[in-house]
Amino acid sequence: MIEEILSKSILNPTGGFLSTYTHSLNAYQGCAFGKGSCPYCYVRAMPVQRFSGAPWGEWVKAKMNASELLKAELEAARRKGTFGSLRIFMSTATDPYQGAESRLKITRGILEVFSASGDFGFLVVQTRSPLIQRDIDLLTRLGSRVAISMTIETNREDVRKQITPTSPSIQKRLAAIEKLTRAGLKTQAAISPVLPCDPEIFADQIASRACRAVVDTIFDGDGAGGRRSTELGMPQLLRSLGYERWLERDAYLPLLEELRLKMGSDMVGFSQEGFNLL
Ligand code: SF4
Repeated sequence: MIEEILSKSILNPTGGFLSTYTHSLNAYQGCAFGKGSCPYCYVRAMPVQRFSGAPWGEWVKAKMNASELLKAELEAARRKGTFGSLRIFMSTATDPYQGAESRLKITRGILEVFSASGDFGFLVVQTRSPLIQRDIDLLTRLGSRVAISMTIETNREDVRKQITPTSPSIQKRLAAIEKLTRAGLKTQAAISPVLPCDPEIFADQIASRACRAVVDTIFDGDGAGGRRSTELGMPQLLRSLGYERWLERDAYLPLLEELRLKMGSDMVGFSQEGFNLL
């Protein structure tokens, strides 16, 4: 169910896990990709979900006034003298290119505001959706002030179908990141969290399509040292699917090493530090 709402603000001061960013930007509340999927999504354990009254993935609120709010808040930042140092992460608690975006175009409106506002600092667009290709015209206009981080947790379609069945196919996401890179955009493959995969093959696929990569795990990347992922049942799920080897704390290392070998160490980050270096 999609509810259209008017929000009071759009740029939220951030810190913590995203320590090098000044604000997060969420054009939606809730995320339709989560319906029976993304079992590790830490937003499931946050108050916004706990008080929603519906299962995660089955409700979405669209902030219809997002672009007007952004225009006003960027103006306010300009007056305060913080405009040029804004570092904005879109999004931290939703996917800006989930299904509703193809009709509502709220994220597109946000990019239009950014592209018309001059030297605002830096924007990261985090998504798992090939729909982002629709906005390649606006993204290229932003040039070096934007980076696209695309979530791709594994190279294995069988694993995707088991754990994140509502996510776009791996081939579609790889094709999307390749197209964005070829358009001259700064791209990052966010292997976050890493799911059972073939490290060598996966690293080849990423290295030939993305500018950089970040690897994260259910233990390091949930903002609670693995407690949230455990509460969400990830260890149990991986065990039930026969993937207990991937519960070892260093199971991600072969992939990280392969990526560093193929892309160069400075182009491959790990967990919190990796996301913050973008
Ligand atoms: S796409 Fe992202 S925000 Fe949406 S359910 Fe999956 S992990 Fe959560």
